[in-house]
Amino acid sequence: MRLKDKTALITGAGSGIGWQTAQLFAREGASVVAVDINDNTGMACVAEINDSGGSALYVRADVSRAVDCYNMIAAAEANFGKLDILFNNAGISHAEDDDAVNTSEAVWDLTMSVNVKSVFLGCKYGIPALQRAGGGSVINTASFVAVLGAATPQLAYTASKGAVLAMSRELAAVHARENIRVNALCPGPLRTELLMKYLDTEEKRQRRLVHIPMGRFGEADEIAKAALYLASDESSFVTGSTFLVDGGITAAYVTPE
Ligand code: NAD
Repeated sequence: MRLKDKTALITGAGSGIGWQTAQLFAREGASVVAVDINDNTGMACVAEINDSGGSALYVRADVSRAVDCYNMIAAAEANFGKLDILFNNAGISHAEDDDAVNTSEAVWDLTMSVNVKSVFLGCKYGIPALQRAGGGSVINTASFVAVLGAATPQLAYTASKGAVLAMSRELAAVHARENIRVNALCPGPLRTELLMKYLDTEEKRQRRLVHIPMGRFGEADEIAKAALYLASDESSFVTGSTFLVDGGITAAYVTPE
């Protein structure tokens, strides 16, 4: 087991990447603190782990709120004695996020709050816990849009993921000598709720697929496997990385027909 005796906190564990990662980390021996704002899905995630012999705790937290972030970290230490892995993964993609002209200030602020401030707050309270544990791994979910612009705009989302990537690099540099690694996990387009609710016709899906060399969307469990590598000691010399798991989308100028 690759995460034996580790405690991992995962935000956005009620769906998609977070759900798959929570299940995988638990199968690899970690005690899991599953965090979400949606009690039903968050509790379902934990029930599935505990029913299959794993160890998990659900904590409700809105990751854009400082008090909630403080409490989720405190719950991890209170229940499992320590925190080794912090996966700041929860994020939103707002339906009214558009170009600069058409995106409202409210949508901009909400996106920055949930996608960027959350990572700051997770680290603000989580890094001291990792220090108390003698070190650990922080994984922040950014996106391929942190390094590529899209002509179908989601300006706030794109800016938010650029901020997560930049923040991750600096955190990595600052905490490297404390045995704390920080990496930005950058998924390509995935077949999860977050994206598929917008790509709701075959035409829209094809418009996106034409850019992906592999010719398909990624699956949440493929991102979970990358998170497992970054969480485990196997990645002991990996920090500050832009860890792209994207079917080649950022590598290609022209993709095969
Ligand atoms: P998802 O919508 O399937 O899951 C996100 C989870 O986060 C949900 O369970 C939701 O309830 C939770 N959440 C939302 N706001 C929250 C808040 N304020 N506090 C706590 N929990 C909250 O999404 P996903 O596809 O699994 O995405 C996970 C991460 O991956 C996000 O940061 C997203 O931006 C990023 N990402 C996704 C894609 C993609 O194509 N799906 C690509 C690149 C990056």
